[in-house]
Amino acid sequence: MLTLKKQYGELAPSERLLLGPGPSGVDPRVLRAMSTPLLGHLDPEFLEIMNETGELLRYVFQTENNLTLAMSGTGSAGMDTILSNLLEPGDKAIVAVCGVFGERMVDIAGRSGAQVKVVQGEWGRIVEPEAVEAAFKEMPAAKLLAVVHGETSTGILQPLTDLAAIAHRYGALLAVDCVTSLGGAPVLIDEWGVDAAYSGTQKCLSCPPGLSPVTLNEKARAVLQRRKTKVPSWYLDLTMIERYWGKERFYHHTAPISMLYALREALRIIAEEGLEARWARHELNARAFIAGCQALGLAPFAQEGHRLPSLVTIRIPAGVEDAAVRRFLLDEYKIEIGGGLGPVKGQIWRVGLMGYNSNRRTITLLLTALAAALSAQGHKASAGAALEAADAVYGAGR
Ligand SMILES: *Cc1c(COP(=O)(O)O)cnc(C)c1O
Repeated sequence: MLTLKKQYGELAPSERLLLGPGPSGVDPRVLRAMSTPLLGHLDPEFLEIMNETGELLRYVFQTENNLTLAMSGTGSAGMDTILSNLLEPGDKAIVAVCGVFGERMVDIAGRSGAQVKVVQGEWGRIVEPEAVEAAFKEMPAAKLLAVVHGETSTGILQPLTDLAAIAHRYGALLAVDCVTSLGGAPVLIDEWGVDAAYSGTQKCLSCPPGLSPVTLNEKARAVLQRRKTKVPSWYLDLTMIERYWGKERFYHHTAPISMLYALREALRIIAEEGLEARWARHELNARAFIAGCQALGLAPFAQEGHRLPSLVTIRIPAGVEDAAVRRFLLDEYKIEIGGGLGPVKGQIWRVGLMGYNSNRRTITLLLTALAAALSAQGHKASAGAALEAADAVYGAGR
């Protein structure tokens, strides 16, 4: 008999302002929805909740795709779903990479048994369409082009329309990672010609991590139906999961009921605000934050004109210690921001201004906290100047 050596206290997480790359802050309405009583996963009432979630997802993705649903799992489950359902051994695929999440796509695409060609872009910049075109010239039989829309490791927002045109000219599908862009920047699946896309609940949808919305158009669905081999993952096999979300209600796995309550509420909040207003809000707050940072002597990292409004990257000034600043923000202000990954580790901070947390109050507090953290490091920084610069963007003046 194994016995416990200590008493475990009741869970009491500290207050945090989550301004890192995810998870992001959650609207209290979403937490309330999650704590409502469970329904059975085939209860007619729950099936209606699934239908409504599908309708709301089509609005947020701006698509009429029938095959639009939420996979059980975090954003990476969506990445795995799209790539492992659309690729099989012997296929050819091109992946555009300019950060960590593009690299993850390469890893997953390779595991499907496909031959993968990487278009390597520079960290902090978009991948240029010419480079993608050149890759198709070398691999004209590629079945799929995969790319990250909002690259959370660098803060880049990749334009997609040129890439869609190139992929379609070569008869390939365009598959897109919208994890950090959906709900925070325009994502127009149908208008832009995106054939398959996935996202996650824990970024701009302001919902806890746990579901991954995906959408596939009829062209992508036909590719799925023509597969010669079974999807290697039973759990992520869309040919079965679409039968649960569709009319048939075929039992596959038990839907994470409370997570679906959460997602439905989060999407309802987005619908109330309206997508265009939400995109404009993210854009304005990102601009105000960047202006404030510049007044603090912090330069933006991501390429100008292609900055992701939901995740701002800033260069850490010389002589300032990355970990000490992040620790100060957490200890003194209960604020979490993210550090750099891979080649930019220790060189940049990643600040998530996503969904519920993209607002003037948050930015005012964060700029004040950053000024204090930098001053504690001996870096000359004036909170007053930062707030004035941000206020100028908001049009408030002083
Ligand atoms: C966060 C993120 C993912 C992975 O999502 P998880 O929820 O961590 O599994 C994938 N792609 C991008 C661009 C992300 O920002």
